[in-house]
Amino acid sequence: MRNTSVNHFILLALEEAGAHLTAQQVHERVKASLPSVNPSTIYRALERLAREGLISMTDMGGEAMVFETLSLPPHHHLICQQCGHTYTLDDGLVQDWFQQVQQQSGFNIQTHHLALYGVCPYCQQQPKP
Ligand SMILES: [Zn+2]
Ligand SMILES: [Zn+2]
Repeated sequence: MRNTSVNHFILLALEEAGAHLTAQQVHERVKASLPSVNPSTIYRALERLAREGLISMTDMGGEAMVFETLSLPPHHHLICQQCGHTYTLDDGLVQDWFQQVQQQSGFNIQTHHLALYGVCPYCQQQPKP
């Protein structure tokens, strides 16, 4: 099987979902079009696409890395470590900060999808157990 068709169906699956998917969820979707594809092929292709900057690969604190298409509007996440809820963080705020970091370090930042951990306002208001 040619890699290009695997990549094509992975990108299609991520775009159709319009959300984060784990490698397993990507595999389930791609299997509908390519029934013989196996999970390790999917995983290797996902890692390669992430390295090439076509998709993002982010540790969102769950059981597995999540993948997302970069054709969505840029956005980032705040993740509550107590309830697991994820909030979307505007790209503008992050870009301002990235620019400062880039100026000071000379580093060209290639992170397109950032996950920050903390405690959400709702959980902060809950009495401690
Ligand atoms: Zn996201
Ligand atoms: Zn919370």
